[in-house]
Amino acid sequence: MQYAGFDVYEKSINKINSARPVEVFMAKGSGKQGDFLVVNFGNGENPGFKGEKTAEGVIKAPLSHENADVMRKLFPFTSPSRVLGKERSFGLGDRLGIATPGHIKIFEKYDAYPVFAQQSIRELNLTNRRYEDVLDAASFAVFREGFKKEWGADGDHLKTAEDIQYALSLGFTMITLDCSEHIRNDINAANAPALPQNIIDKYIGKQFDIGEGTVLNFTEEDLRVINGIYGKAVAFAADMYRRFLKSGKYNADFEISIDETSTPTTPLQHYFVARELIDAGVSFATMAPRFCGEFQKGVDYSGDLEQFNKEIKVHAIIARHFKYKLSIHSGSDKFSVFPAIGKETRHIFHVKTAGTNWLEAMRVVAQADPGLYREIHKYALSVFSEAKKYYHVTTDLGKIPDVDSLANGDLPKLFENNDSRQLIHITYGLILSRKNPGSETFTFRDKLYDLWQKHEELYNQLLFRHIGKHLDLLV
Ligand code: ZN
Repeated sequence: MQYAGFDVYEKSINKINSARPVEVFMAKGSGKQGDFLVVNFGNGENPGFKGEKTAEGVIKAPLSHENADVMRKLFPFTSPSRVLGKERSFGLGDRLGIATPGHIKIFEKYDAYPVFAQQSIRELNLTNRRYEDVLDAASFAVFREGFKKEWGADGDHLKTAEDIQYALSLGFTMITLDCSEHIRNDINAANAPALPQNIIDKYIGKQFDIGEGTVLNFTEEDLRVINGIYGKAVAFAADMYRRFLKSGKYNADFEISIDETSTPTTPLQHYFVARELIDAGVSFATMAPRFCGEFQKGVDYSGDLEQFNKEIKVHAIIARHFKYKLSIHSGSDKFSVFPAIGKETRHIFHVKTAGTNWLEAMRVVAQADPGLYREIHKYALSVFSEAKKYYHVTTDLGKIPDVDSLANGDLPKLFENNDSRQLIHITYGLILSRKNPGSETFTFRDKLYDLWQKHEELYNQLLFRHIGKHLDLLV
């Protein structure tokens, strides 16, 4: 839409009604500079945006972090909120900084609240971004699309006080504490340390009636092993809570993640961790256990469905008993377990997906530029073993058809093939950061962003279809 001499995003037109009204909107730019804000303050005062003057009382302001901060103050809907207290929340993690407009369309339709900004430190490093970029991309997309529902920002899988401080200082509204480095998977009945008396007194010989006909009890051996595995993780979480969240200085929810560990969390372990945290005065909104079976990135659940259904039921009862929500990580594409998750949690949950918007972005490439897709696919094959160091996947490269023997029109079908999905899923960092030999220029990155910009509508449609399938089964 043409407006005031600019090619404007229609839904982005906002006014501040003061004695001298100020108008702010986003306009389409071209090339590397891309979109920008236009601030029209007439004969009033510039509310603080930095940019270049284009007419009397009008400035063109770049989508910088500084301007994002001004925008968030002026237009609170562009600031993240705490959404874990809502019945349904859904983490999306826009690794590329371009998926939020597509994600917005999904949450205009479904009764769930999005966490648009969600990134781990590992993802930041692999994509060469900072938390500032992640938050700003979400805020600008929300402004552009005029999305007025609340949305969250998650410092995902944080492991250190420094990283927690970093995310909170920028206004992130959720901290997912990764306790994995404090979980002792090497502990078993043979080497578990003796129990402290207070733990014995609290648990041994007791029946824990958590309602809904479910009673849990611990043998001394169970308890010794569980305390050995999780004792330090509980102490770590309590320490981080006291340092950062207890005072309420930061407006953020706390999620306890014990999922990135080598063995599934049994219901007894889940109960113990929750109970110990609560007894230590830790208030948390969600907990992510590791469920039985495999929750590998970008593909459906694999494992014993019957056991999963039995265990999710108890996990959900424990969460209800203690009044927090279950958080399901690596939730992308787990279509065969979504109905049970929806039912057992009574449709009250937090589900995180992350890489799935990257896979849809690569599906766009396969559809729109088969030549470029083939090049990237072959590069991914060549670096797969390196990427595998960071992810637990059971990909069989032998099951991926040769891209040179596939017709152009068949390339998008690779995204129905689990092995091919995982190949592209876990190599994203290497693909994006690949530089031409002996040069500082990116091999794929700039070409990809150009292509995604050109095919934005297609990308939004694919995201809507794919994430929508998740919500159809969960909500
Ligand atoms: Zn996780």
